[in-house]
Amino acid sequence: QKYDQSLEKSRNTFSAKLNSLLANFRSVDEEFFDNLEETLIEADVGFETAVKISDELKQEVKLKNAKTTQEVAETIIQKLIDLYEQEGQNEDYQLHYAQTGPTVFLFVGVNGVGKTTTIGKLAFRLKKEGKRVLLAAGDTFRAGAIEQLTQWGKKVGVPVVQKPAQSDPASVVYDAVKKAQQENYDVLLVDTAGRLQNKVNLMRELAKISRVITREVPTAPQEVLLALDATTGQNALSQAKQFKTTTPLTGIILTKLDGTARGGIVLAIRNELHIPVKLVGLGEKMNDLQDFDPEKFAAGLFG
Ligand code: GDP
Repeated sequence: QKYDQSLEKSRNTFSAKLNSLLANFRSVDEEFFDNLEETLIEADVGFETAVKISDELKQEVKLKNAKTTQEVAETIIQKLIDLYEQEGQNEDYQLHYAQTGPTVFLFVGVNGVGKTTTIGKLAFRLKKEGKRVLLAAGDTFRAGAIEQLTQWGKKVGVPVVQKPAQSDPASVVYDAVKKAQQENYDVLLVDTAGRLQNKVNLMRELAKISRVITREVPTAPQEVLLALDATTGQNALSQAKQFKTTTPLTGIILTKLDGTARGGIVLAIRNELHIPVKLVGLGEKMNDLQDFDPEKFAAGLFG
């Protein structure tokens, strides 16, 4: 339901265009595929991905001998689902937890993409599932970041490990990991700074935080999740490319999908980065976080 409502904007543009494309459709010719490609690019699927989808569809439509509008539409939807599922195992868009000892998730991403909010929402969800959750205020750089995470901690009812602004984030994380181990927390969610303008420092900082975590808990962090703002479209993709070159990412959180006509970015991420989208943000409230479900997504996109 929420998925459906939230994807309304994407649907209104992408689906409306696709429908009008199909409404005027006479035969599956070059022009049809050119138009389809354009529609996909406008939905921010990305150029390479749009061409790839269009090429593969051409083959499939031929193979299935699809002639009616309905048949072609079904082939397209199935293609989007396949595209999402073919490259990884089905389970790779799930979050992974430690068998024993604390699970650690590291959250990275540029300022303003919704990192802190996502941590709050996930803390809320995990707590509801009965897990003991601890937060680490590892963004000691941005003014207000510590306070913001503390607010979420209060709202959700989970403790937040913090130090004064400008402290070494790795030392905050060290304290948090120690506390998680000693006091038997199930999951530690670590916030980090997102100042991409000083890329080298940021990447060094993230590497140091990772090292501190792994030294204390060799199997952690179980997830390094990059938050991306879906409303920024292709810009999000380029941020992801930058992070990917220096930080080993295990998944992507696509935020603000409730406010965008650019849901196609999901496919671009999948095809150009090969990193699974694991969570989607569908609003600013505690409940507005969902697991990514490719079938629901493709269906929602096409309506
Ligand atoms: P950070 O700098 O990456 O930690 O970003 P914040 O968590 O502070 O989020 C920046 C803004 O985006 C805040 O106003 C959030 O309420 C808003 N936000 C975060 N996630 C979502 C979402 O899924 N949907 C909407 N509509 N807003 C969001």
